[in-house]
Amino acid sequence: MSIATNIAHIQDRIANAAARAGRNPEDIQLMAVSKTFPGEAIAEAHAAGLRLFGENRVQEFAGKSWDVHNLAGAQFHLIGHLQSNKAPRALELFHAIDSVDSLRLAERLNAMAGRMRKRVPILLEINIGGEEQKAGLAPDSPELEQLLTSAPRLAALAIRGLMSIPPHTGDPEGARPYFRRLRALRDTLRARNLPSVSLDTLSIGMSHDFEVAVEEGSTCVRLGTAIFGERPRP
Ligand SMILES: *Cc1c(COP(=O)(O)O)cnc(C)c1O
Repeated sequence: MSIATNIAHIQDRIANAAARAGRNPEDIQLMAVSKTFPGEAIAEAHAAGLRLFGENRVQEFAGKSWDVHNLAGAQFHLIGHLQSNKAPRALELFHAIDSVDSLRLAERLNAMAGRMRKRVPILLEINIGGEEQKAGLAPDSPELEQLLTSAPRLAALAIRGLMSIPPHTGDPEGARPYFRRLRALRDTLRARNLPSVSLDTLSIGMSHDFEVAVEEGSTCVRLGTAIFGERPRP
């Protein structure tokens, strides 16, 4: 199957899931997660109409950014854990950081972005399953609260929403309760109308569970395998 065929098939599935939930499919962005795949694969997805791409490592994307910097309108987001010392490089390479998982990282990004005279869109990564091995802010943590209330001071960052990877259960339905919990958290936080915070983005759903995520309110699904095929095992 070609990348273009995969994308067309996925777009149908997104539209069907949206219809089941009474949602407008245009409110759901399709992000192509291109980690481990070369620039040619990104160009193919771009030719098929995709403009939003996710990469999970600064180093890896640095190696291929030159091959893709000419793709008109393409936006590259970092979706993997970012070490503070790589924040400057990440800001040079990416349009947005969708995986901000600590106040310390937010402070660092804010300082660097301010110096570069940029305003960088970010998502806060939430560890919705409370998994020890996973990055992300705990939903009820003082750190999340502090990050949100610091938004007016973090003026070089634009907090746009939440991102999460739920525990893997092997069954797409297993993710549903976690998606619901994240959506409820987003709704609760948004209802507070915190200054300088907008929480319109809910980045949930990967290749094995994106239809469930769309039914539960996702505004951005992040798909790798379903678009590009299996990744080589490390
Ligand atoms: C790899 C990755 C994805 C895509 O995973 P697939 O199962 O291949 O769709 C989505 N989000 C993040 C954060 C990832 O690292």
